[in-house]
Amino acid sequence: MSPLSLNKYDDHTAGIYVHIPFCRYRCHFCAFYVELHRPQLAINFIQALCREIDLQADRGHFRPERITSVYLGGGTPTALPPSALSQILHQIRKAFPIEPDAEITVEASFDSVSEPILAQLKQAGFTRISFGLEAVDASQLHRLGRPSLTKDITSLLDTTRRAGFTDINLDLMYGLPAQSLPSWQESVEATLAAHPAHVSTYALTIEEGTPFHQTLSDGTLALPDESLVLEMADAAHARLTSAGFVHYELSNYARPAHLSRHNMHYWTDHDVLGLGPSAHSHLGAYRFSNIPDVGLYASAVATGFLPIAESAHLTANEAARDQLIFGLRLTGGIPSPLISRDGMPPDIFETIHSLETQDLLITQQGFLRLTEKGRRLADTVASKLSSLYL
Ligand code: SF4
Repeated sequence: MSPLSLNKYDDHTAGIYVHIPFCRYRCHFCAFYVELHRPQLAINFIQALCREIDLQADRGHFRPERITSVYLGGGTPTALPPSALSQILHQIRKAFPIEPDAEITVEASFDSVSEPILAQLKQAGFTRISFGLEAVDASQLHRLGRPSLTKDITSLLDTTRRAGFTDINLDLMYGLPAQSLPSWQESVEATLAAHPAHVSTYALTIEEGTPFHQTLSDGTLALPDESLVLEMADAAHARLTSAGFVHYELSNYARPAHLSRHNMHYWTDHDVLGLGPSAHSHLGAYRFSNIPDVGLYASAVATGFLPIAESAHLTANEAARDQLIFGLRLTGGIPSPLISRDGMPPDIFETIHSLETQDLLITQQGFLRLTEKGRRLADTVASKLSSLYL
């Protein structure tokens, strides 16, 4: 069968993601690979990460034309001191040609930063900061296993702006245990009052191995029902868009010109090199992930090996299907010229056609995109496409 023809987006930018696997506490919903912060482990990690950066640069299989984003995520990168984050960024800049105007993001928690720390991060070259706020209500944060906010969110963002950041994201979560619609709306209103440039809204998903998964199995986790979760998503969408935010991806809203350049790399099938334990890399059809254990990761790089746990070379059809699934997350959809029906396997052609006849997908003004109904049923669309055997 001929490969499904989704052509590459025509610019050749790429990004670098760094997983900093430390947190000061473990949230009850979190399934990421994280360790509680310990100073010696953090020192070992930074040494190992700097070594991995050099190994990857020497290996030379990541040589994009332009690296336009670097993203330090986790974990909580600001569990490390700003001098350590600055050292990591410096090492990346030495090893790879980062564009002078690249977007350089650091994830942070409010309880791990102060105005001097934020100013040092700005000075080190970070251009964007992303806070995992999730909710504003103290009892809700407590249920998530997080500390309460020390100040209201507006003054926290004012402090961040005084330190020099204007590109500020807030992450919010809905569908939380015992969350009501008014409580969710309170989080959205507090967010809007604080004037971030970007807002991400995520529905809670219960992942295996988390404390929430355990309490769900015990029957003691009171989650809002599906219709209330949809109502929450709709309420946030209506409020954020009426406040001037552009809904550019299923979970993401931005002030014009403040879209996340790094995350756009994932949705538009650009290369991203992942560094650090558990980080995932996407280099064309070659995908790999690092060992999700900081000790084993450090041992691997100390002996000169890339710390890769799993890898795969996707077939052309598999890579194209992923491109389709990720691209459809964008409100603008996928440019139709990227999808050539010549040589397309009949089952994917038929699936797209069937989703169009169910009013879930539409081709309009040169783009294939989700309809309004498709946006609300995006998981159904993605699972139909994912289940295709190519
Ligand atoms: S702060 Fe973030 S990464 Fe750390 S445990 Fe909580 S959700 Fe996970």
